Amino acid sequence: MAVDYQSLAVKGVQALSPYQPGKPIDELARELGLNPAEIVKLASNENPLGPSDKAMAAARKALEEMCLYPDGNGFDLKQALAARFGVAMNQITLGNGSNDTLEVIARCFASEQSEVVFSQYAFAVYPIVTQAIGAKGVSVPAKDWGHDLDAMAEAVTERTRLVFVANPNNPTGTVHTAAAIEAFLDKIPANVIVVLDEAYCEYLVGDEYPDGVALLNRYPNLIVCRTFSKAWGLAALRVGYSISSPAIADILNRVRQPFNVDTVALAAATAVLEDEAYLVKAREVNAAGLRQLAEGFERMALPYIPSFGNFIAVEVGDAAQAIYQALLARGVIVRPVAGYGMPQHLRVSVGLPDENERFLAALAEALTSAGQGA
Ligand SMILES: *Cc1c(COP(=O)(O)O)cnc(C)c1O
Repeated sequence: MAVDYQSLAVKGVQALSPYQPGKPIDELARELGLNPAEIVKLASNENPLGPSDKAMAAARKALEEMCLYPDGNGFDLKQALAARFGVAMNQITLGNGSNDTLEVIARCFASEQSEVVFSQYAFAVYPIVTQAIGAKGVSVPAKDWGHDLDAMAEAVTERTRLVFVANPNNPTGTVHTAAAIEAFLDKIPANVIVVLDEAYCEYLVGDEYPDGVALLNRYPNLIVCRTFSKAWGLAALRVGYSISSPAIADILNRVRQPFNVDTVALAAATAVLEDEAYLVKAREVNAAGLRQLAEGFERMALPYIPSFGNFIAVEVGDAAQAIYQALLARGVIVRPVAGYGMPQHLRVSVGLPDENERFLAALAEALTSAGQGA
C-alpha cells in the first residue's frame, strides 16, 4: 500500500517551507568550478575577522575530550555569562545556537490554540517555529521596514502566548530605542512572553539602545536571546543563550536537549568572552564596512535601509534574482530576501574592506548586465 507520508506529518509541518540559509562557499565552488579561496561569502552575517585566537586555542584543547559527553549544564559558560551580565546562573539557558532556544521557547509556551505575534520582515525563524507547533502566526505589517511596536501591542489578544521582537532586526537592520522597547513592554500583559532577540546587540553603541538584560527585573515576562554566532565569531559551533527569570529558565531547561551545546562550543564560547579586543575589533571593522557599503550604494544611486547590524539590505529592483545570480557567477555570495517578502532587495553582510570592495565592483557589473536583460 502506498502511504502518503506528507499527510502523516502534523498540519503545521505539512505547509512549512524550510529555512533558506546562505549558500555555502563549497557548494558554489562545486557548482561553478570556482576556487573556494576566491569566493567571497557575505550571506550569513558571519564575523569576517575569522575566529578569535583565544576561542581557537580553547576549542583545540577541548577536542581532546571528544569521547566524553559535554557538561549538560554548561557550568563554565554560564558562570562567565552570569559574571559578564550581572545575572544569576539559573537565569541562563544555553542553546545550540539561539535558533535552538527560540524553538524551545515556542514549544514551551505556545500550542495549537495559541497566537504568536511577530513583525513583517522579521527573522524567518519566528514564523517557522510557530507553524511547526501548529500555533497561529500573526504577522504585523512593518513600519519603515522596522517593527511597528504599537501595532504589535495591539495585535495581542487573549490567545497570544508569545511575541517575538528582533532588535536590531534581521534582514532589515532596523532598531528601536530603549524608550520605544520599554513603552512597548509596558503595554504587554504579564502573562504574554516577550522574546527580545538581541542577536546583533554587540554592534550597538550608545545609551539610547536597550540592553534587554537590564529590563528583566522590571519585566518578568521577558526572555532575552543572544548568540555567539555573529559578533563573537563562532557561527559554526552553534552556541546561543537566553537570559530570563529563573522560573522561565526552569521551564526551558525541561524541554531543551540535555547536551544541546557540545564541549568544543562551550570551551570556545567561554574563552571568547575573555577576548574583549576581538569584540572591539569586530565593532570597528563593522562600522567601517557599513560606511563603505553605504557609500558604494550611494555612488550607484541604490536605496538601502540604514542598518544597525552587520549587514545591509540594498534595493536593487525587479532584477534582484538576476543580480544575485550574476554576483554568484563572479564568486560573490549575498542573500536574496524574496522569502521575506522583499523581492527587490538583497542582503549583504559586512566583510573586510577588500571583500566589500569585491562585492561593490561585482554589483556594479551585475547591475549593468541585468540592465541589459542578461
Ligand atoms: C543570526 C540570528 C540568530 C541566531 O543565530 P544562531 O546562529 O542560531 O545563534 C537569531 N536571531 C536573529 C535575528 C539572527 O539574525
